[in-house]
Amino acid sequence: MNEMSNPDDCLFCRLVAGDIPSTIVLETPTTVAFRDISPAAPTHVLVIPRAHHRDVASMADSDQQLLADVMSTAVEVARQEGIEDEGYRFVANTGTYGGQTVFHAHVHVLGGRGLSWPPG
Ligand code: AMP
Ligand code: ZN
Repeated sequence: MNEMSNPDDCLFCRLVAGDIPSTIVLETPTTVAFRDISPAAPTHVLVIPRAHHRDVASMADSDQQLLADVMSTAVEVARQEGIEDEGYRFVANTGTYGGQTVFHAHVHVLGGRGLSWPPG
């Protein structure tokens, strides 16, 4: 049983359930990709597992296939968004210092402009 798997308690579980609106760009049996509500780049898509895990570390510990599914969907999103040739970035903010604000595992797909490094 995953932590906090009740959709009522988690924004992204509610989004997966269709209870809150989102602009979905890609769906697979185990993952959903949708546009970030506050885009930080011309392409800013979030890829999440349908199942609740609080962060990518929890997902890696309990379901490595699901972790692979999320990464594969992120690659497919980059192709679909037309940012593969110029390049892009995957980000998984984790915990307080990582700046995580939504505690349902997600990978940001960012691209469409040159991205600075290192991040703040
Ligand atoms: P993080 O700070 O890594 O936890 O990322 C959470 C992301 O979720 C932020 O970039 C938010 O802009 C985004 N976000 C929050 N609520 C929504 C929503 N309802 N639909 C789409 N993206 C959202
Ligand atoms: Zn959730």
